[in-house]
Parts: sequence; C-alpha cells; structure tokens
Amino acid sequence: MRTAWRLSVAAWLLWLAACAHPLPHAPAPDDAATGPRSLLLVSLDGVHPDDLARGDTPNIDRLAREGVHARWMSPSYPALTFPNHYTIVTGLRPDRHGIVHNTMSDPDLGRFTLKMRDAVGDGRWWGGEPLWVTAERAGLRTAALAWPGSEAAVQGVRPDRWFLFDETRPIDERIRTVAGWLSEPEDTRPRLALLYFEHPDGAAHAHGPGSPQLRAAMREVDAAIGRLLDELGRSGAAARTDIVIVSDHGMAEVPAGQVVAIEDMVDPADAVLVSAGQVLGFRPQAGREADAERRLLGRHAHWQCWRRHELPARWHYGRHPRVPPIVCQMDPGWDALPREHIARRPPGTRGSHGYDPADPSMRAVFVAGGPSFRRGVALPPIDNVDVYPLLARLLGLQPVGDDGDPRALLPALREPGEVADGTGTPAH
Ligand code: AMP
Ligand code: ZN
Ligand code: ZN
Repeated sequence: MRTAWRLSVAAWLLWLAACAHPLPHAPAPDDAATGPRSLLLVSLDGVHPDDLARGDTPNIDRLAREGVHARWMSPSYPALTFPNHYTIVTGLRPDRHGIVHNTMSDPDLGRFTLKMRDAVGDGRWWGGEPLWVTAERAGLRTAALAWPGSEAAVQGVRPDRWFLFDETRPIDERIRTVAGWLSEPEDTRPRLALLYFEHPDGAAHAHGPGSPQLRAAMREVDAAIGRLLDELGRSGAAARTDIVIVSDHGMAEVPAGQVVAIEDMVDPADAVLVSAGQVLGFRPQAGREADAERRLLGRHAHWQCWRRHELPARWHYGRHPRVPPIVCQMDPGWDALPREHIARRPPGTRGSHGYDPADPSMRAVFVAGGPSFRRGVALPPIDNVDVYPLLARLLGLQPVGDDGDPRALLPALREPGEVADGTGTPAH
C-alpha cells in the first residue's frame, strides 16, 4: 500500500515537472552528446566598435560573422572600467551596485582605488550579486582570470578559481589557462569562465584611439582569441562553449593641451577632490558649501557640474551614498588633472574615457557565438545592463540584478524560450 502510494506521488510529480515552464535556457538535444554548455565571458578593456573595423581582428570578426554582434553597446555612467565591468556581471547600474567610480570614498570603508589591493579585494565594496556568486550557489563551478570584483569574496563567495589581477601575466598563459578550464571533463569544468585583457585600454590611453600602438594591441588580443578558439576546436569543447566578448567602454581622442588643472576648477580650500578623471567628484569643505557650489555648479568652457541629485536622469546616477555631493563631467576630448601631473605628462595625442555614455566615442562592443547563438545576426545598439539577463539565461539561472531588459538580447538566441517577470504580463 505504502509503495503504491509512493509510486503514485512520484508519477504525479513527474507529470507536474513535465507541465512546468522550461528553465530559462533549456538544454538543446545535442547537449546529450557534448554535456552541459559552458559560457566564456571575455572583456577587451577600452575597445570601441571602430577597433573591430580596421582589419586588425580577423578572429573576432569571424566569431561575429558566424554568431551575433551588436552595432554598439552603450556603457553605463560613469564610462569607467570598474563600474562597467561590474555592471555587466550584476545587471545593475553603478549607482545601485556601489562601484560608483574607479576611485571612491566610503564613510565606513575608507578609500578605494584600483591600486589599493586590500580595498579591491574587500567584498564590502562590491554590492549586488555577481553572476559567479549566483552560479556557485546553484552548484555551478565558476572561474575568473581577473575580472574586476572576482578577487573579492562578495557575500562571502568567490569564483571556484580566481586570480589576483597581474598585468605581467603573459597573454599566452591567460589563453592556455582558460582553454584548459573549458576543455576539462564535466565534473571539474567551469560552467562560467571570465577572462580580462587590459592591453587595448593601456595602448589607447597612451597613444590615442586608432594609433599604431592600439592597432598592434588589437592584433595581439585578436590573435590570442584565435588561438583560444583553435584550442577549443581541437579539444572538442567548441561545440559546447558559448563565447561572449564585450568591452567596458570606448575611447576618445584627447588632443595635446586639452587638459584643465583641477586647482583651476575649484579652490581646494572650498572643496575636496574625491574622484578624479573625466568624471570628478567633489565634497565641499565644512562651512564652504556655498562657495564650492558657486564656483563649480553649471556650465563651464570644457566641463559641467551638478549637485548629485540633479544629474541628468538618463545617467541613472547620484543616489548611492558613495557618489560625492558635486559631480563634474568633462566634455569629450578634455582631461582634468592636478597641476603637478600636467607638468609631467608626455606630449602628444592621448586617449581618455569617462565621458557621457551617449557620446559616440564611448561606445563599447558586444560579439557572441557558440551553440546557443544564432548565426549571422546583427543586433541594433544595446545597453550594457541588458547583457547580464542574457548571461543568466545561458546558465539557466534566475537573474538577480534587474536594471536590464531580459528581452533585449533574446533575438541573439537560437532558442529564446520564455521570459517570466512574475506578473504574467510581458516584461517591459
Ligand atoms: P581605467 O582606464 O582607469 O578605467 O582603468 C583601467 C585599468 O584598470 C587597466 O589598464 C588595468 O591596469 C586596471 N585594472 C583592471 N583590472 C584590475 C584589477 N582587477 N585590479 C586592479 N587594477 C585593474
Ligand atoms: Zn576600461
Ligand atoms: Zn582606461
């Protein structure tokens, strides 16, 4: 009797499971042969769509031709490295995930800069829930070769394999490591792997967008991606590996001499500089608020400043407590630096980012290919908050961050499936 009851419950559960909605990304039938798919997310720091249009990137071009690419991807505000890398993996704008700049201050945590390894590795700075945390909690292995945020224990969780950022790590070693991960047997292979290249950003800062040095860096990272794809083909991993290549922001040319001394923007006796660069944050000195505001707020020749709560709404920025009281935005092609740094600067054209995400120079790239993607699809421009829901779907995970539109990138997928928004009505 008991056994019969158990059997009928089991049959009922089976029937229920069959009727239930499929997972966001139901495995395709051929997965039976290849095992579960892995997802590789690659970042090429500072790459603009123009950098993929000069004939320097045959391997990325092929991936785009045989897969999907967006005309461009808009970065989130501010168009800086850490805020945007973390947006791509959390689905949250920087104002919500808390990495509001590359340099920040927090009343409890103190200072944060890219060079402060303790801060970069301290999970308390990193809000939201990066995809690798959600994946690890769901029992999926993850591995990151220095994606910003991956060296911190966020909510107490790190990728299964993670590395300190090390600019001296040769490109080839990075490629061999990641190709090795993705070729492992199913029981150890990461289902999510992340790979980061800083080289294009460094070359474009020093010599300008489109410079011979940037083009050489593009050829170098493209050749590395070519070797990675070859290796995945040789090991048989290519048939079960989805690859998404993104950048965090583009790059604008800064002609020689287009630099403003920060001391000329405001007297340091009136306001303290919290965040420097093309997006500047100032905190008025106690009792000097009116002077600081009189000096800074409004339009100037090459920049504009706002109280943080009055920033343009399209930037979705200014609510997080780490955003300083006054935010100044440089015009494209203009830098702001302390006077002593200006004196030490090498002459000539340079590159900078951190300008208005709507400026064409700040456009980033999105290219994807692999078994889950359609072939030869050109997408209209996308927003970088929309990448995360796609990544979550590819891993079969319920997205946590909700600033992106889960429908925006469905046209990229072979089997788009359904989007549940919990209300029974179409999302957005
Ligand atoms: P930026 O151009 O100022 O927005 O920052 C880009 C730079 O950040 C790169 O050139 C790298 O040197 C640096 N960077 C990237 N990832 C990390 C990391 N995980 N830790 C420290 N620095 C990093
Ligand atoms: Zn960057
Ligand atoms: Zn940069």
